[in-house]
Amino acid sequence: MNKRTLLLTPGPATLSNTVKQAMTIDHGTWDSEYKDVTQKIRTALLKIGHAAEDKYTSILLQGSGTYGVEATLSTAISRGTDTVLIAANGAYGRRMSEIADYAGISHLDICFKDTEPIDEKIVLEMIKKHSEITHFALVHNETTTGIVNPLSNLLPKLHSLGIITIVDAMSSFGGIPLDLNELKPDYLISSSNKCVQGAPGFAFIIANKKVLANTAGNSASLSLDLYQQYLCFENNAGKWRFTSPTHVVFAFYEALLELQDEGGVKARYLRYSQLEQQLRNGLKTLGFEPLIAAKYQSPVITSFKYPSSSFNFDNFYLYLKNHGFIIYPGKITEVASFRIGNIGAVYSKDIARLLRTIKDYLLRNQPKTSNQ
Ligand SMILES: *Cc1c(COP(=O)(O)O)cnc(C)c1O
Repeated sequence: MNKRTLLLTPGPATLSNTVKQAMTIDHGTWDSEYKDVTQKIRTALLKIGHAAEDKYTSILLQGSGTYGVEATLSTAISRGTDTVLIAANGAYGRRMSEIADYAGISHLDICFKDTEPIDEKIVLEMIKKHSEITHFALVHNETTTGIVNPLSNLLPKLHSLGIITIVDAMSSFGGIPLDLNELKPDYLISSSNKCVQGAPGFAFIIANKKVLANTAGNSASLSLDLYQQYLCFENNAGKWRFTSPTHVVFAFYEALLELQDEGGVKARYLRYSQLEQQLRNGLKTLGFEPLIAAKYQSPVITSFKYPSSSFNFDNFYLYLKNHGFIIYPGKITEVASFRIGNIGAVYSKDIARLLRTIKDYLLRNQPKTSNQ
C-alpha cells in the first residue's frame, strides 16, 4: 500500500522529491556554477546560524558528521600544549573522547547520566580547578536519547573566560534556533543529512575566523585538516579540496531553499515540536513511556521505554517497516528503549498513520500473560 518508506530516524532523513531530483544532474568540480553554489551554501549557513560574516566562516568537509567532529577537534586543539574538557551525556559526547584519544589530544572528561542534561555548574568548577584546560566540547542535542543540553549561559561564560568552545550541533542546526552571535561558540559542527534535510555526504563547520587562523599545522591528518580545507575554499572562490559529493551539494542547496520557503529555522522548529508532541502524546496513550523528561526533550528524536518485558523490538521494527516506517533501536544499555525521529519531509498525517499502525501492532501482539 505504501510505496514511500518514511525514515523516522534523526538523519539520514526522508528527503523531499525536489531535493532528490536535484541529484539527477551531473556536475564538474572545477565548474564555476558548482563553485558558486558552494559559496552560496557557505554564506547561507552563516545566515541560518546568525553568525556575522566578519567574525565567522563556514567550511564544508567530505564525509559524515563524525568526519566534521574529528577534523574540528584535531585542527582546533594543539597536541602537546592544549587540553580539552569534554562533557558527555550520550554516545556522541563519548565519541569525542575517543577521537581525542586517536588524535593524541590531551583531554579531561566529565560524564553525566544519559537521561540528564549537562550541568554547567560542574563544568565551570572543573575549569576553575584545572588551569590547563584551553578548550571545551559538548553535544547540543544528544541524539543518543533526544536530550537537549543548555548552551545559552554556559557558552558565553566560557567565552569570557577565554576558553575555546566546540559544539556538536549535528542534529540541531537548522531544526532548533541557534544564534552564534549571542552564544559565541568558536566551532559549531553539523552535517548535510540532519535538520537541513539534505542527503548524506558532507559535514560543515562554522568557525570563528580569528581562532581558526591560529590552527595551521595542528592537524595530524591531511584530509581532515580543517585549516587547509578553509584555505582552499577561500583562495579558490569556493573550490573544494579533493573530490566532493557534487550531487549531494546541489541537493543541499535545494534543501536550503526549501528551509527558507518553510519559513526558516523558527518555522521548522515549530513543525518538529508539534510532531514530537503528537508522537509523545500518542505513544503515551498506547502505553509507551518516554525516557527523557518533557522539559529536556528535543523536538528531533524521542526515546520510548519498552512497554513490557515481553515486548519484542525486532518484531515491532519489522511490522513498522512492512508498513512503510523505519525507526531506530535504543542506544543506551541501562534501559530497554527505542527511538523515533521526526525530522525530514515528515508531517502530521504521517505521525497519525504511524500511531494507527502501532495501535494495530499492539492489538495483534497482546501479551498472553500480564505478569511474566
Ligand atoms: C548524527 C550525529 C553525529 C555524526 O554521526 P555520523 O554517523 O558520522 O553522521 C554526531 N553527533 C551527533 C549528535 C549526531 O546526531
